[in-house]
Amino acid sequence: MPNFDVIVIGGGHAGCEAAAASARVGARTLLLTHRLDTIGVMSCNPAIGGLGKGHLVREIDALDGVMGRVADAAGIQFRMLNRRKGPAVQGPRAQADRRRYRDAMQAELSGTENLTLRAGAVDDLLVVDGRAVGVVLADGTEISAGSVILTTGTFLRGQIHLGERSWAAGRVGEAPSIRLGERLYAMGLAMGRLKTGTPPRLDGRTIAWSRLEGQAGDTPPVPFSYLTETIESPQVICHITWTNPAVHALIHDNIHRAPMYSGQIEGIGPRYCPSIEDKVVRFAERERHQIFLEPEGLDDHTVYPNGISTSLPEDVQHALLRLIPGLERAAVLQPGYAIEYDFVDPRELRSSLESRRVSGLYLAGQINGTTGYEEAAGQGLLAGLNAALASSGQQEPVVLDRVDGYIGVMIDDLITHGTQEPYRMFTSRAEYRLLLRADNADQRLTGLGESIGCVGAVRSERYRRKRKSLDEIRAFLSSVSATPAQARSVGIAVKDDGRRRDGMTLLGYRDGGFEALRRLWPQLGALPEDVAAQVAIDAHYAGYLERQAADVAALRRDEALKLPESLDYDGMSGLSNEVRDKLKQHRPASLGAAARIPGVTPAALTLLLAHVQRRGRRTAA
Ligand code: FAD
Repeated sequence: MPNFDVIVIGGGHAGCEAAAASARVGARTLLLTHRLDTIGVMSCNPAIGGLGKGHLVREIDALDGVMGRVADAAGIQFRMLNRRKGPAVQGPRAQADRRRYRDAMQAELSGTENLTLRAGAVDDLLVVDGRAVGVVLADGTEISAGSVILTTGTFLRGQIHLGERSWAAGRVGEAPSIRLGERLYAMGLAMGRLKTGTPPRLDGRTIAWSRLEGQAGDTPPVPFSYLTETIESPQVICHITWTNPAVHALIHDNIHRAPMYSGQIEGIGPRYCPSIEDKVVRFAERERHQIFLEPEGLDDHTVYPNGISTSLPEDVQHALLRLIPGLERAAVLQPGYAIEYDFVDPRELRSSLESRRVSGLYLAGQINGTTGYEEAAGQGLLAGLNAALASSGQQEPVVLDRVDGYIGVMIDDLITHGTQEPYRMFTSRAEYRLLLRADNADQRLTGLGESIGCVGAVRSERYRRKRKSLDEIRAFLSSVSATPAQARSVGIAVKDDGRRRDGMTLLGYRDGGFEALRRLWPQLGALPEDVAAQVAIDAHYAGYLERQAADVAALRRDEALKLPESLDYDGMSGLSNEVRDKLKQHRPASLGAAARIPGVTPAALTLLLAHVQRRGRRTAA
């Protein structure tokens, strides 16, 4: 019997979520990471959530993952972004106390049943007959397992760049994973190189706060987790300052010393989170760029200047700060830097995040070409569940599709298209975003989580109660109706067309909130805030959702038409060579997945459909 059912390599955001998920479904899980005290460390910005990312956190939480609860425990400023836009694109975000986040994550994992935490550097993987069966530590110790999950972040052959200086590291002050990176190359995995960067950290005591614009969070703060009643931590204010033409001129004058422009860096950086030198070059017409000054903690003077990530030499970083209002005297606690690292082409993976080449090996997080804590955690959760289920002998993996959630959108994007730059989540990546809202992640996923066995009793009970309230309110609102005159008497501006409208329809009117409805039907009484908000949003989007239902049904139909991985595309006549090569390379799991591969034509899809139908008939016979 192997030492463990599942080994997770890495204690970052993917690793923590993977280990917790695996242990939750009962697998004997080992989390192996360089240092136990860095479990849950935020390598870059001290914040969780945001547009698209907040949706991911809510989905992780809906499946009883840890990130949402930990962020609630550590959050020191909560804001719902895009408040002025529709609810579908609003994203919860929280500034986190870096130390509290790490401590809360470590406490969470230490208290998790079935989970062992151990410090150690993994140098090699044990692979027998094309199957991962364990790991080898740097000291030669071998540990066996049913499945292995790799979540090594920016550590694979990591190389830091700071001006003209460059050295091997996984993160500042931490050793890289050189041998493991080489081993993955040797295994024949398609790999590439990406880069990301971080700004200098400043001493808050040396910033002229009184001259800067403040930005407070929401009152009351809205938590991430469906289990959190209230946020207990004290809340802080962030501040805003701006770059200016003098800063831009200084950067232009020194651009030849920036590793990105001197040719020292080969990896491609995140387009949507560019360094300040990148912004100044790419958006030359802009006179200023915003900088959010984010406190890193309640008992910490460190300030994270969000918006000036840079790998310019230290002397330029200092000179640049002197020119920014409020930062003229700011002391630098740690200079900004960039890091280049290896990633694995995610097209190497199945939708379960298992490697196609090495069975039993799962990959999650930055190693798959993504950037961000939330993206890493979402993949970690899915990989953790699948590794655990596979090691217990379950054949069918858990797969989330593009209608289930942003986690499904992300994984489908990655395994279908790969990525040429660090992949980050946005609401615009989801075609069904009216359905995939941050407010209804529990309604979309907790039931599924229960059927997988990854949802604990407390959440189940909470979910059931909410579901019952939602059902009751919806049933009531669908059973009552009002004439136009009655609706207008409570301030709902409906057309005077003599048509009775039911309660759900009236709730969907801009001026048809619960307050107005209660005047028509006092028996509605007081409703829990989350229940009222969700029913109101559903009513608001009802028409759009109905229209989208046909698209969703079509997608689900195509997803249900499975294409076996062993399908002989060479033996299938009628396919062009180009399409045949693409299908052989991607080996799509379903007709729906084949349709999303760029270049796969409708004619090829018709051939595939005919093939699947023939196979279905043969199996039935
Ligand atoms: P990580 O959080 O990096 O965790 C990797 C873990 O694996 C670590 O615990 C490490 O010790 C462990 N490990 C690695 N190799 C081994 C081994 N061989 N044996 C045992 N343990 C091992 N994201 C953004 O969204 N925006 C940004 O602006 C941004 N900037 C960044 C700047 C820098 C300098 C860095 C380093 C990261 C930045 N990120 C940014 C990325 C963000 O930190 C990651 O997306 C996120 O942390 C990825 O999580 P992960 O779990 O995949 O990996």
